[in-house]
Parts: sequence; C-alpha cells; structure tokens
Amino acid sequence: MTDAGGHPYRAIPGPSVVPDAVLRAMHRAAPNIYEGEIVDLTAGLIPDLCRVARTEGAVAIYIANGHGAWEAALANVAAPGAQVLVAATGRFGHGWAEVAEARGLKVELIDFGRQSPADPARVDAALRADTGHRIKAVLATHVDTATSLRNDIAGLRRAIDAAGHPALLMVDCIASLGCDRFEMDAWGADVMVAASQKGLMLPPGLGFVFFNDRAAAARARLARVSRYWDWTPRAAPGRFYQYFGGTAPTHHLYGLRAALDIIHDEGIEAVWARHERLARAIWAACWAWGQGVRSGSTLPIRRIAAAR
Ligand SMILES: *Cc1c(COP(=O)(O)O)cnc(C)c1O
Repeated sequence: MTDAGGHPYRAIPGPSVVPDAVLRAMHRAAPNIYEGEIVDLTAGLIPDLCRVARTEGAVAIYIANGHGAWEAALANVAAPGAQVLVAATGRFGHGWAEVAEARGLKVELIDFGRQSPADPARVDAALRADTGHRIKAVLATHVDTATSLRNDIAGLRRAIDAAGHPALLMVDCIASLGCDRFEMDAWGADVMVAASQKGLMLPPGLGFVFFNDRAAAARARLARVSRYWDWTPRAAPGRFYQYFGGTAPTHHLYGLRAALDIIHDEGIEAVWARHERLARAIWAACWAWGQGVRSGSTLPIRRIAAAR
C-alpha cells in the first residue's frame, strides 16, 4: 500500500508515517550550527512543543529515543537508592521500571495487568503506606502501546494529593503525545516524556522531557546529575550547543518545525478529535470482524465493506 505521496504506507505504532512536508523540510544541506537560521528556529520550537504538551513548564530535548527520554527524566528527579512507585499497565510500564532499577532506584511496582487501567485507589493506598515519604515519584504510562490501555492521569494526581504525598507524577506520553488528549498542567503531571517518532510524525531520534517547577525543585535538591542528562542547561541554554549538550540534531529540528506547523495549523483539539474518530472506526471494525469469526458466516471484511 502507498500513501498520497507514493511512499510505502506502514501502519505500525512507530516509527509512524512521516508526512511529505516533514520529509521535504529535512531534505537540505547541513546548516551552520553556530549562528543564524537554526538558532532562531530552535528557540521557536520550544513554545510550540509546550503548546502540544499543554504546559507552561519547560522542555529539554535529547538526541535519543523514548528509552533515552525515560532515563533522562529519572536522572533529574531521583538519585540511586531513592524509591519510585510504578503503575504498570503493559510492557512499557515494566520497561520504564527496568530502566529505573538499572539506575539504582528502588522500584515498587503495582502490576495492573493487561486488561484494565491503573486503579488510583491502589496508588493512593501504596502512598499512604509510605509514611516516611520515601517514594520520590509515581511513574505511569498515559497510553501503553503494548496493551493499548489508557490511564487516567488526572485521577492518579488526585490519588497522590488525597494521600497527602509529595511524590512527583511522571508520565510516559511517548505513544500518545499529539494523538490523545493530554493536559500536562491541568491534569497535574510534573514530568512528561515523549519521543519524535510517533504522534509527532518525525523519524526516531529526538526525546523530549517536559517538566514543571516542582520537578525543577526536585532536580535542584540532587547533589549531582550527569552532565549529559542534566535538563537544566538544555531547558535554559546560555549558548546554542547547550540545548543538545553538543551538536544539534540539525535535520530533525527542521522536520520538527514542519511537524509542529502541521499540528498547530490543524489545531491540537482537532488533531485529538481526528485520532479519536479513526480509533473508533478501527475498534468498530475489529468488533465486527470478531462477530464474523464467531458466527462463521460470510467473510466479515466483505460485510463491513458492503455496509459502508
Ligand atoms: C514506543 C514507546 C516507548 C519506547 O520508545 P523508543 O523510542 O522505542 O525507545 C516507550 N513507551 C511507550 C508508551 C511507547 O509507545
């Protein structure tokens, strides 16, 4: 199958389809990374990224995939030996827990299985049991790609607040940013991680860590953060190279400019509504195919085509 631009169309969770406008924006000679266009372009990306994330907070960009963004986020809020609580609803929840463990963090994991979203009441209970406030952060996945489960992030925030616990709420939006409604500030997420190759429609290669003032205060309390992962200079660079801790991901930045233009031209609310519509269509088709299999009658795919 090919898309409107004549490219092969591969519908997998990621890397997702890269629009022609993004591909065209990246097809260029290597730019000057010391002054001029790319410096101004990068400064303009920051507010537009934060608009997609619905936050007034800050963002640090890493030349990394989602695993790198996971690690970057943890490196800035918790030192080895500290404790985190992971609410896992699929493979990616467990994956982030493994990254935390490998960083020397103590991980308390609540496995909610593969069928239902995280229950805020169980998170509330785990936090109340932590009377010494040893848990530094609650880690949750907004949408776990492995199970397709979507978690109630605002509900998890309410659970943390109801328990009177100071833990940060950290959310993996690698699959959902730019697809599913996500309101970082209104829902009370302190840290949010994303990557370039899913809803943001770029090739893999950029990891994003959004964070608010509470998370910045947690970072300030750490004795040290490795230079490369430290989000402070990336989010407030004195010099251009500090955005990326070295050479900028030049072509990805041009692609990101084009992708953010596509998203904001359509409007983020409209983007969410379009994904919701397409998701419902696919769920309806899967349901109908399932019916066909059970009744063993005509090929279900033909009946759906006929119904259209
Ligand atoms: C894809 C994905 C990841 C991992 O991202 P990589 O870029 O492959 O490291 C993490 N979490 C979720 C929810 C994902 O969908």
